[in-house]
Amino acid sequence: MSIELSQRMNFEYGVPRELVPGVQRIVAKNPSPMTFKGTNTYIVGNGTLAVIDPGPDDEEQCAAIVKAVAGRPVSHIVLTHAHGDHSDGVPRLIDALKAPLAAYGYEPRAGGALKITPDSREVGVKTIRPDIMLRDRDAIQGDGWRLEALFTPGHAPDHLCFELSGTGILFSGDHVMGWNTSVVAPPEGKMSDYLASLDRLRGRGDKLFLPGHGGKLAEPERMVRGYLIHRRMREDAILNAIRERPKSIDEIVSLIYPTIEQKLVRAASLSVQAHVEHLIERHLVSADDPIAFDRPLYPS
Ligand SMILES: [Zn+2]
Repeated sequence: MSIELSQRMNFEYGVPRELVPGVQRIVAKNPSPMTFKGTNTYIVGNGTLAVIDPGPDDEEQCAAIVKAVAGRPVSHIVLTHAHGDHSDGVPRLIDALKAPLAAYGYEPRAGGALKITPDSREVGVKTIRPDIMLRDRDAIQGDGWRLEALFTPGHAPDHLCFELSGTGILFSGDHVMGWNTSVVAPPEGKMSDYLASLDRLRGRGDKLFLPGHGGKLAEPERMVRGYLIHRRMREDAILNAIRERPKSIDEIVSLIYPTIEQKLVRAASLSVQAHVEHLIERHLVSADDPIAFDRPLYPS
């Protein structure tokens, strides 16, 4: 079985689109293999508003958000996670809207001040200091809406999904999307956290996911199940390859992604590393420390 991904998305850059009553989406113009058409910014409410994920630091995106807000009070700017494609636009938007920031509050791990992006750029990890620090099950509210945080680390260590209370709608950030599987790349991404966070989304009865990239997901539980099966199959393929004979991450990548484009090899290698770390945690695989892409992994 494979996941039924959908690349369908009706949008125009910079133009707000009402997806359900009281929820508008504006797509930022930062398309890439990692961000699909661009980052989705959501505006929630009709009276006082919340803005979820300002997106990249882009003058046009900020202006489009301000225009859609149309002078109404914004009670919260909300972040699903601190990756730059969602958070770089925060200072500019705070400046424009004078609204407080609500987020997990991201502190890079000690000694881990550099992050390697899936397209192999190294970027400095910023510390995000929100005005309102959100933890699991914390809620914020405005006129006619309430957003409840669901702590879902894995893609990022600070990832929050937001339930729009009483609607069956979940803002799923980069945790679950419809156009592609989520990237889990060490050192920030952690597979065991990611799988546990996927498990949290099962059996909740959600009706609609509104993701950080791509179109809305009308059958979200099916997608969550598909994501879990996809990860299990990938892990089985990696474990079987290592059990056949010891192999490096480089060898595994060329085995399980035989037709991969060169520019995506780094992302694939990090994804395999995330699986390997999870196998090592469960004592199914052993490796020399530290893990390197070109050193052998052994079955244990
Ligand atoms: Zn993203």
